[in-house]
Amino acid sequence: TNLIELQNITRLYRSDEVETTALHNISLHIKRGEFVAIMGPSGCGKSTLLNILGTIDRPTSGAYLFDGTDLAKTSENQLAKHRAGHLGFIFQSFNLVDDLTIYENIELGLLYRSGLKGSRRKAIESAMDKVGIAHRARHFPHQLSGGQQQRAAIARAIVGSPDLILADEPTGNLDTENGAQVMQILQSLNAAGATIIMVTHSQSHADQARRQVDILDGQLVASVAQVL
Ligand code: ADP
Ligand code: ADP
Repeated sequence: TNLIELQNITRLYRSDEVETTALHNISLHIKRGEFVAIMGPSGCGKSTLLNILGTIDRPTSGAYLFDGTDLAKTSENQLAKHRAGHLGFIFQSFNLVDDLTIYENIELGLLYRSGLKGSRRKAIESAMDKVGIAHRARHFPHQLSGGQQQRAAIARAIVGSPDLILADEPTGNLDTENGAQVMQILQSLNAAGATIIMVTHSQSHADQARRQVDILDGQLVASVAQVL
């Protein structure tokens, strides 16, 4: 079954004199458990697509079904619940909160989650273990290397066991070795069942996904299954 069905998604940006078609008639199905890399040149619409998938932007037209639910008909309030319950976000620039410890930063991933109660600490410790950051729990972000900060950010994204992880150039600010570490973590999360959609400029990192989707001028140009 498809976790995600985008049907004829178009996103226009209108200002007084100019109209930009950021996405044109995109249809994309993603099954539960897939690892999809999105590639394309700067300005082709990758961020717009990721924002729509993350429900922080809405398409101008077209339908977005998530696990069978039509999100176009969903209120902002319900979308906030949807994000908290189902999505995990990873960014190029980590986006950790400077004056919170690593533990507290990861706890933010549970902020709008109910029903975990006594097991919150276990969930946080388990997330830290998965990314190898447990020994830095009491440190602050500025005390960590870039690679460690991104691993902490991944722990924050996965602590609530999201159905879908959305990663926007997660290795873009990292050196080769730390980038490889992050890719290894994403692969092991995917092997454990997580669905991942990742924007990247790195062909070698895209090759580690199971499927590559190429975008050019707001349009889908290819969707190739990788042989792993
Ligand atoms: P990418 O992430 O691939 O670099 P984007 O999704 O950011 O591409 O942008 C796609 C197109 O939409 C570009 O032409 C960009 O200039 C335009 N665009 C993006 N955001 C806005 C906005 N808020 N207002 C107007 N145009 C925008
Ligand atoms: P790792 O390989 O464990 O991810 P690094 O090799 O990048 O970490 O860093 C080695 C050690 O130096 C780590 O324990 C890290 O906390 C510390 N460190 C790295 N960068 C900084 C920094 N800018 N400020 C303070 N400590 C740092």
